[in-house]
Amino acid sequence: MTMRDVAYNLPFFYGSISRSEADEYLKLGGLSDGLFLLRLCLRNLGGYVLSVVFDLKPHHYPIERQLNGTYAISGGKSHCGPEELCAYYARDADGLCCVLLKPCLRPSGIEPKPGVFDSIREHMLREYARQTWNLEGESLESAIISQAPQLQKLIASTAHEKMAWYHGLIQREEAERRLFSGAQPDGKYLLRQRKEAGAYALSMLYGKSAYHYRIDLDKSGKFAIPDGSKCDTLWQLVEYLKLKSDGVIHVLREVCNNPSQPAEPARPPSLPPNRLSAISLACNPDGYTPEPIGGRRILPMDAESYVSPYSDPEELKDKTLYLKRECLLIDEVELGSGNFGCVKKGVYRMRKKQIDVAIKVLKNDNEKSLKDELMKEAEFMQKLDNPYIVRMIGVCQAEHLMLVMEMASGGPLNKFLSSKKDQLTIENVVELLHQVSIGMKYLEENHFVHRDLAARNVLLVNQHYAKISDFGLSKAIGADDSYYKARTAGKWPVKWYAPECINFRKFSSKADVWSFGITMWEALTYGQKPYKKMKGPEVVSFIEQGGRLERPAECPDEMYELMKKCWIYKCEDRPGFEEVENSMRIYHHHITQKVSTDDKVSENT
Ligand code: ADP
Ligand code: MG
Repeated sequence: MTMRDVAYNLPFFYGSISRSEADEYLKLGGLSDGLFLLRLCLRNLGGYVLSVVFDLKPHHYPIERQLNGTYAISGGKSHCGPEELCAYYARDADGLCCVLLKPCLRPSGIEPKPGVFDSIREHMLREYARQTWNLEGESLESAIISQAPQLQKLIASTAHEKMAWYHGLIQREEAERRLFSGAQPDGKYLLRQRKEAGAYALSMLYGKSAYHYRIDLDKSGKFAIPDGSKCDTLWQLVEYLKLKSDGVIHVLREVCNNPSQPAEPARPPSLPPNRLSAISLACNPDGYTPEPIGGRRILPMDAESYVSPYSDPEELKDKTLYLKRECLLIDEVELGSGNFGCVKKGVYRMRKKQIDVAIKVLKNDNEKSLKDELMKEAEFMQKLDNPYIVRMIGVCQAEHLMLVMEMASGGPLNKFLSSKKDQLTIENVVELLHQVSIGMKYLEENHFVHRDLAARNVLLVNQHYAKISDFGLSKAIGADDSYYKARTAGKWPVKWYAPECINFRKFSSKADVWSFGITMWEALTYGQKPYKKMKGPEVVSFIEQGGRLERPAECPDEMYELMKKCWIYKCEDRPGFEEVENSMRIYHHHITQKVSTDDKVSENT
């Protein structure tokens, strides 16, 4: 699944097992000194417990995920992941009962046990995206793949609001009145908000008496009952207290339903209005939006062009390749130009809505070859439908031949980055590159080669939303082929091309991967030109001799490693987009989670 635990592949990781189950496994393993296993911490997202045997007894050390995204045993050194932490304590006991000597391996056939929160989290993420943005199918999956950390953060802060056990701002007396109405079993509970910001209370029945516990947000951004459990979110605290009466008199048993909420368990969290119009308005015409303070930031799914304008069945009725000229309003504003003519801004009127469009206008209609080329581009684009690819709306044959596309008002990625260098974080750049890899994976799956992937052909809808464009050179690969063979070499973007393109005119998705590597380099240098002043043929021999672009100044190691993989000489050895997207996703989620916990610190201090 998309959010498998980082420790999942460790043979001594057992997932969400209890302390007594851990003891059992260690006993089975022989209780020798230094025998150890790793398990998930039930209390907080991303925390673990290390269980180690010494002197025939298991010892259990909680490993906390810290605010900067690193992991540490309380009072110990920080490590970048659970695996690195274990490797460290295998060399040096550094305060533990003894060094880790022998991993207690999972018996064959036993997978790590999924956490209580794993399934709830997955389900919530999906439901949240489905309901907030009205998404289904592939666009729903793409939303989750690209935005999981942002969605998690959103849900974490709002999920409790729509739970049946959450009663909002009510007084202690009112809470008691609600608890005592109807049956009064031990462990009947509700959560309520207190008057102070960020403060909550848990009210529970036990032995026909009501107990009240304050829940405060501590300095590290965790919710805690004094001297009791600490959890990342309120709903996790509730889930945890259902399993263990840590700091409270009894485990939580029965929900005292909020009368103003339908009695359904674990319903999705509160839903902001569909495609927040306030956000779209706040977005400048050039696509740059300063990060909101307090509010949430714009997500790709907020943009109108996240789904096809024809995803509405009512609009689909009118779908044809050729558009009516009277529905098209062409603005004088030029968005860009090329050898075919220019691209203009416009509006296309549909049945129920009007959409902003970009119109590629052919300047010289008399030249049949140019016309054929533009029609080929249109027919190619007609087959594509993905949130991270510029969609074609249709073709209009009027005063000129025109190709009508979705509007991406932020313009080309290289220009955007070079003009906004100071305002954009590396995390933001990685997020955009991940989106490009999702779009390219879609092309790969559908056996299309782009052949002109470059930062100039990645357009921005806004600062957090990129789409691949310019399908002028693109080709479908035949069912029995793994590549497209160009008959002759043409006006090619040589600096973006893999060796097999230059040497054998062979174009596959693996060649697009090479171009993706160059695009990464362009993005991570904030829009510099690759290979400086070198000419095409010089670049070709530089590559043949094993030369590659250098690591950009602010480029994270993980990203440069991936670029170098994209530039593996032999295409058979080069990764495909499935692998590239996966690497991008892991790294994007990794740094985004770091950033979001850092945000929390500044909000609370
Ligand atoms: P070319 O084949 O000449 O490179 P492109 O398709 O890349 O043509 O378009 C040229 C320029 O027009 C782009 O760099 C961009 O500035 C603008 N443009 C193209 N498509 C769009 C679009 N969908 N939204 C906004 N601007 C666009
Ligand atoms: Mg172009």
